[in-house]
Amino acid sequence: MQAAELVHRDFPMEITCDSRVLYFFLDTLRLLTMPPKKRQTATNPVPSPSPSPNTAEVEASPSGVINYEKLNPKTEHFEFLGPPGAAAMITFLPLLVWFLAFFCNEDGCPPKSIWSIGVEDLSRWFSLKFFLANMYDPTAYAAYLGFVLFLAGLYIVLPGEEIEGTLLRNGKRLKYKVNAFASLHLLIAMGFLNIRSSGFGPFLFIYDHWVGIVTAANIFSFIVSFYVYGSSFLPGKLLALGGNTGIWIYDFMIGRELNPRIGKFDIKYFIELRPGLIGWVTSNSAMAIKQYVSLGRVTNSMMLVNVFQAWYVIDSLYNEAAVLTTMDITTDGFGFMLAFGNLSWLPMVYSLQARYLAAFPRDLNYAELVGVIALQLTGYYIFRSSNGQKNKFRTDPEGDDVKHLEYIETTAGTRLLTSGWWGISRHINYLGDWLMSIAWCLPCGYATPIPYFYMIYFAILLLHRERRDDDKCRKKYGKDWDRYCEIVKWRIIPGKPCVFGGIFALVVAKCRGLQFSNWVRITISHTHPLCRHLLTNLEAKTPT
Ligand code: NDP
Repeated sequence: MQAAELVHRDFPMEITCDSRVLYFFLDTLRLLTMPPKKRQTATNPVPSPSPSPNTAEVEASPSGVINYEKLNPKTEHFEFLGPPGAAAMITFLPLLVWFLAFFCNEDGCPPKSIWSIGVEDLSRWFSLKFFLANMYDPTAYAAYLGFVLFLAGLYIVLPGEEIEGTLLRNGKRLKYKVNAFASLHLLIAMGFLNIRSSGFGPFLFIYDHWVGIVTAANIFSFIVSFYVYGSSFLPGKLLALGGNTGIWIYDFMIGRELNPRIGKFDIKYFIELRPGLIGWVTSNSAMAIKQYVSLGRVTNSMMLVNVFQAWYVIDSLYNEAAVLTTMDITTDGFGFMLAFGNLSWLPMVYSLQARYLAAFPRDLNYAELVGVIALQLTGYYIFRSSNGQKNKFRTDPEGDDVKHLEYIETTAGTRLLTSGWWGISRHINYLGDWLMSIAWCLPCGYATPIPYFYMIYFAILLLHRERRDDDKCRKKYGKDWDRYCEIVKWRIIPGKPCVFGGIFALVVAKCRGLQFSNWVRITISHTHPLCRHLLTNLEAKTPT
């Protein structure tokens, strides 16, 4: 059944509204669980699984038994500043999630009392008494655990196409079930049914027990991380090439085993998309409902934040299979970084804007509304079309919309695009993603910088990720990568010096009250030769 048919389907008259939701859901589920080949659109086709960076010769003994000792070489390089960096991340990131939960609430963001905090308060915060009074919340723990286990149950029970992942260096390909989008549908239908039968209670629970839920997420992240670290020492495990240094704190953080599984249940694949992304939209919906109950309506800022972020999540879940070719799945081990990132950080920190707006509602004026929507659409357009263009080029290079693009052949066997989106900068997709993150923060207004945490953190994440990817590609492509970088000069922001130079010059001009012509001259003198060239050309062409 096609989507259009589904929308126009007539339901029997006697069916109640609730059962219509259920019918719609069941039909949708059928549509969603069709093989991806049938339902995938050209916007983001699933790339055919190609060898991952982990691919290498299969080391087998004469008897045919795989020699895992040879397959799992010792890691000689560190990321994230090595063991001290790992220890800092394990300590401070969970504290930061707690900090945002405690210090952005109805009393203020941050509360006024924060400025009168003394040394004795700090020592009190790390006491058992404080924990029991503020963070010990067994009902919230049970709710969080129930939610994650329920999602795990859906992953196992709901039907879904089984697809193969990238070729691993033990010569095997793992199978993955694609049904995250169907899980989201089921949860949405259950949410509506629940609201009809018992009101907003479960959603308000999330808001009221936020600190308890955050605590549960932090504790659960550690439990999962210890489990996967411990089980990675069992025989026959394929380790990540970057997670086998032998220094436990580092390996625990970065992830030792590449694909930890319990039977067929792939822990990394499950946690990568479901508790994090679905948890994020669930938290956001709870915040919108809280605002509705307190205020009697939902502000346009809250609507925008919910719609923008749900859109991002739906896009990711609909294209679930595409995650199998990302660095997280093909290269990184599964350890504290990914477990904590998806179980705690993502649903608890990414929902900060909605939580802020639930406590401090505000409406955007028309100019702000237009500006924020334009920014979101621009960001999404860059993000989706650049990712789609690369996927299309890699899967169907003769396709109508990519066959005209220029590329270089590499000795590694794959081609690198040098025109289209990927000719503008080496990670133009990150720019689109970052523009969207700004559009998600702006609806919170200008009263406090805390809701802007996300776009600042995300900029750091993308800058670091770009360096990691650059490193990976340099190792993979060698001289071809240098050749590519010669052609495509910018890393993320095209013409970055012009942009930053322009902003700098604008600030200087504003402070000094200079005329526009001076402003242009300052721009030229403070930026890159390329900008100078562009502006000189522009001046030459402008009639005086
Ligand atoms: P990318 O989609 O940017 O892919 C990078 C890979 O693409 C490279 O390793 C290389 O792989 C290939 N490649 C690089 N240059 C070219 C080229 N010119 N032509 C063809 N192929 C090329 O990787 P990510 O997984 O980092 O990002 C995917 C998306 O996910 C991005 O849009 C990003 O913004 C988003 N993201 C979102 C996060 C969030 O928290 N919201 C976190 C991280 C990412 P190969 O070895 O195949 O050549």
